[in-house]
Amino acid sequence: MINQQLQEIILQYASSNKHFTFLIGAGLSAESNIPTFRGPEGYWTIESAHYHPQEMATKRMFNAHFNEVWKWYLYRINTCSVAKPNPGHYALVEIEQKLTDQFSLISQNVDGLNIRAGSSIKNYFPIHGDLTFMRCYNECSNKLHEIPTSLSNRNHKHSLSKEELALLKCPSCNSKTRPHVLWFDEYYNEEYYRLHSVLERAINTDILFTIGTSAATNLPNQVFDIAINNEITIVDININDNPFAERLSHYKKGHIIKEKSGSVLPKISSLIS
Ligand code: NAD
Ligand code: ZN
Repeated sequence: MINQQLQEIILQYASSNKHFTFLIGAGLSAESNIPTFRGPEGYWTIESAHYHPQEMATKRMFNAHFNEVWKWYLYRINTCSVAKPNPGHYALVEIEQKLTDQFSLISQNVDGLNIRAGSSIKNYFPIHGDLTFMRCYNECSNKLHEIPTSLSNRNHKHSLSKEELALLKCPSCNSKTRPHVLWFDEYYNEEYYRLHSVLERAINTDILFTIGTSAATNLPNQVFDIAINNEITIVDININDNPFAERLSHYKKGHIIKEKSGSVLPKISSLIS
């Protein structure tokens, strides 16, 4: 429920040129049937060993099991490409259209659903990358290459064929490519993940919404800490308890909405004219 006090803040901020930042996590796309990392769905088996996404999504694993890690990503890319944006994604598009440049969308999601729903690139910060793309592992350039559709439509149980492996070569230098995502054993940077731009937006934000995230990654925590230090209003939307909601329960300007993002975000949009 969006209480009366929060409704008034949203209305007032929207009409007085205040900056709104929406920080989203996998929970936003859960209603599009893309599994989060907290559920049991994500396990992957290599030679009878079971691996959790947090182990699969690492440079270490990519170096040790190139074919299997690419197979796992191609499977996830397929899950994303058949998924459709849900009311939460569309509400964020509407909110951006109403607020125009008073709006930033910081996304931990790599599924590309916000852009497919209609969010604009200029206010969008995909801080963990985007599974639509691959890039040169050896960094001969920072160019992103779209992953060929024949690879995302493949049967994920089969080994990668010679032809498929050839499609995973860098078009410029012919060395191996990697998915355009931030792995758990890597660091944020500006070049690929917009680190400094995001911190700048966070500093200039007047109200922060954290949505469908378990607060397990570093940059979202920095954005949250900046908001707390600046003593701005923070709203957490999540169906479960999570570290952000826990911290907000002791924070004067904190609001916790324990509901699905797909039902709360359209209500927030309807408050803004
Ligand atoms: P997470 O999987 O750690 O947590 C998801 C959170 O969403 C949980 O707190 C859960 O309670 C909440 N949630 C589930 N359904 C919800 C709903 N309908 N409405 C509101 N909240 C809901 O996700 P994370 O915090 O984003 O971190 C995981 C990492 O995994 C990120 O780095 C991200 O890049 C990656 N990831 C991305 C996708 C995607 O692109 N869709 C999917 C899985 C994981
Ligand atoms: Zn290259």
